[in-house]
Amino acid sequence: MAGVDSSSTALDTRYRMVDLIAAKRHGLEHSQSQIDYIVDGIMDSSIPDYQLSAWLMAVCWKGMSIEETAFLTDAMRRSGETLDLTSIGPIVADKHSTGGVGDKTTLVFVPLLAAAGIPMAKLSGRGLGHTGGTLDKLEAIPGFDVSLSVERFIAQVKEIGMAIGGQTHELAPADGKIYALRDVTATVESIPLIAASILSKKLAAGSNMIILDVKCGRGAFMDTEEKARTLARVMSEVGERLQRPITCVVTDMEQPLGYAVGHTLEVIEAIETLKGQGPADLRELCLVLGSHALVKAGKSKTEVEARETLLELIHSGKALDKFRTLIKAQGGDVNVVENYALMPTAKHRFNWIPSGSEKRWVEHLDGRKVAEACKIMGAGREKKNDKINLGVGVVLTAKVGSQLEPNQHAAIVHADSEEQFESASKKLAEAFTFSTKPVDVPPIIKGTVR
Ligand code: URA
Repeated sequence: MAGVDSSSTALDTRYRMVDLIAAKRHGLEHSQSQIDYIVDGIMDSSIPDYQLSAWLMAVCWKGMSIEETAFLTDAMRRSGETLDLTSIGPIVADKHSTGGVGDKTTLVFVPLLAAAGIPMAKLSGRGLGHTGGTLDKLEAIPGFDVSLSVERFIAQVKEIGMAIGGQTHELAPADGKIYALRDVTATVESIPLIAASILSKKLAAGSNMIILDVKCGRGAFMDTEEKARTLARVMSEVGERLQRPITCVVTDMEQPLGYAVGHTLEVIEAIETLKGQGPADLRELCLVLGSHALVKAGKSKTEVEARETLLELIHSGKALDKFRTLIKAQGGDVNVVENYALMPTAKHRFNWIPSGSEKRWVEHLDGRKVAEACKIMGAGREKKNDKINLGVGVVLTAKVGSQLEPNQHAAIVHADSEEQFESASKKLAEAFTFSTKPVDVPPIIKGTVR
């Protein structure tokens, strides 16, 4: 049963779902025991989908207070198993992104933070829709095993200070049930429902230091900065109420992060970043998220000091060494760090040159369209069990603010056939907008909420 402080059960005669739907429709707040009643009813299927759908729609329209969102998050967290990571030590960190295009941050962040002495217990997901998944990207490394048991996951964090695994146990199963209905009832875009969905899983995963990268823009769930800031504030306040302080950084996802989109290509870009090269936006994002973590963990006094520490870990090669350690611990081939050809590779590379003969600047780059270009070549999945092509993808050679000469390419398409290239080209043509005047490079960091 979901409630700890109430005696509600799905058979609780104090409540009827029809009344709770009506209450929410009138904008009234639910109590904790009412929320527990709903989550219990979801778990034992005593609340039918049509009533749950009506309630979700009422929540979409009328919203929820922070207190209600915290009750919902906590009830969903308690709907399944929760991981106990306390044996690892006083601090166990996790970083989560709300999802985007070209987001390979975890591949850099986990070894970097582990090199700084912060235990990283990272549970990641697979790609779905237009966003990529860290587990899929790691599987581009031959032999890399993401299906760690809980015991092995914990033992590895204790031994080498980090692990990246998939969810083997069902954490917050109420979220799975609610999400499936939200997906087909147009109720995904509700801030309290998104906050409860993300946080219930993160809290069940057991880490006590959570850094959330809340992305905004065309390539993200939250399409505007305003919505992303609101989501960040709600998650931060809910975390505080549930005694799990959460730092949220709002970041740009209008255009893809870095230059590479596609599994092998993104692993290469992450390794390059750990080697001290790599794109400026990815590096900046890792430094900002990492600095927050170091200060929170008491490893650095200020964010400036933390940044210097992280840069030193990159320049000394220690962060890259940690990545080698991670690959080895999870059964992967460490030689990929020096030899990228060991990973799945597309058969051909094509230069994509946008039409137009004048000198111009990239004014806008639509992350979602770039993702579609990759998906059309087989890099994305529509359904959970779809097989994906790890070698194909796009390496952008121009992003917002870049100047292009006539006939200069704006992307290199890694494709298995000319037909794939043709299909991807159409999407890329839709992704880019040009200006005849110089355009400023947009900042990757939009703000921090803690
Ligand atoms: N990510 C989640 O886990 N849940 C949502 O509702 C949205 C994004």
